[in-house]
Amino acid sequence: MLTCYACERRFETGQRCDCGEPLWVDTDPAGIAWPDRDGVWAFGDLLPVERPPDGLAAAAGGTPLVRTPALDVDGARVHVKLEGTNPTGSFKDRGSAVGVAAAVAAGTDTVGTVSHGNMAASMAAHAAGADLDCVVLVPADIPEARLGRIATYGPRIVRVDGDYGRLYHDALALAPAAGVEFVVSDSPLRVAGQKTTTLEVLRAFAAGEASGAGDGAAPSPSVPDAVVLPVSSGGHASAAWKAVREASAAGLLDDPPRLYFVQAAACAPVARAFERGDEAVTRLAPEEVGETVAYSIANADPPSGTRALAAARDTGGADLAVDDDAVADPQRDLAGAGLRVEAASATPLAAVGTLRELSAVDRGEHVVCVATGVGYGSGSTAVDAETVARADLGAALGVE
Ligand SMILES: *Cc1c(COP(=O)(O)O)cnc(C)c1O
Ligand SMILES: [Zn+2]
Repeated sequence: MLTCYACERRFETGQRCDCGEPLWVDTDPAGIAWPDRDGVWAFGDLLPVERPPDGLAAAAGGTPLVRTPALDVDGARVHVKLEGTNPTGSFKDRGSAVGVAAAVAAGTDTVGTVSHGNMAASMAAHAAGADLDCVVLVPADIPEARLGRIATYGPRIVRVDGDYGRLYHDALALAPAAGVEFVVSDSPLRVAGQKTTTLEVLRAFAAGEASGAGDGAAPSPSVPDAVVLPVSSGGHASAAWKAVREASAAGLLDDPPRLYFVQAAACAPVARAFERGDEAVTRLAPEEVGETVAYSIANADPPSGTRALAAARDTGGADLAVDDDAVADPQRDLAGAGLRVEAASATPLAAVGTLRELSAVDRGEHVVCVATGVGYGSGSTAVDAETVARADLGAALGVE
């Protein structure tokens, strides 16, 4: 079953509620204990599918949580959750693994997504790993290097001309007739998988695994004080909040962490809504959007933006924005500590600087920065992709 957290309506199938909010997969956290290991499937009791199919899906998650005293910010103790060690280099693999597992369990043979970045590569890889067909909808003007990285895994790539922001909705609307399980940025299945990032962090602290030798004899607390993630669609933010809610409901958290969500100042609809005290996130107009090095989190119309707003408020955190200028040093500092991350993934460390200045994070507090992805490598150069007009997408997907 699926639930709308906002109006509490329940659904058998679907992705979004009639009220417009994305749905969450129901779980029953009562009586759940922390597993003794990490990995997406260690949390099978809290997932819609308990076990992975054969192949790549088993490899998602289980990423290191690294205590890095060299990156401490004015006395705030920094831990980095290194999502770049996932099979395709980002946390998206957690959601793709669960999406693919559910498709296999349901006997669906085609999965899909709407992405021109990490999610596209991740879905294509996980579909390949489970021997499913995959269709990836990308914008017609996608740079070749990005296309090549996606094409490496052999999905069907459809370049779609027209308003790319609308494609999220088009894909969900066409999905049933097209027979494609679209696992988009905040699909219930993806969010279910992606909550394991935060569940792993909470598990590690609870198990006393989060201290480093640099902290001397001081043990880490059983719960981090704050978790900081970059936000684009809001799917990962939604998942982090779901994780905290489930762990709390299971009685596993004494004092839940504050959740902070970071955007690039050039494209920050969630941070704007938070600052204004708005109830909901509204889409930025084209003239309100600038260029940013943090391309993985530039989303002017985040489908789970309002969820990121609610999650920050509910946990005593915040939604905030950082300038590109403020990201360069943290990204270099992370590399200096041996941790290569893409610009979007350096925004949490930049945000810790802001949060220390505002005294929103105190000296001595333990802060987990989620380094969401490692960034682009090279891909295939032989790309076979068709281009269709947005109006013809239905026909391209075989919908009458
Ligand atoms: C997708 C992505 C994000 C943003 O996640 P959302 O769930 O869309 O908010 C952040 N960092 C990286 C590296 C990503 O790939
Ligand atoms: Zn609703």
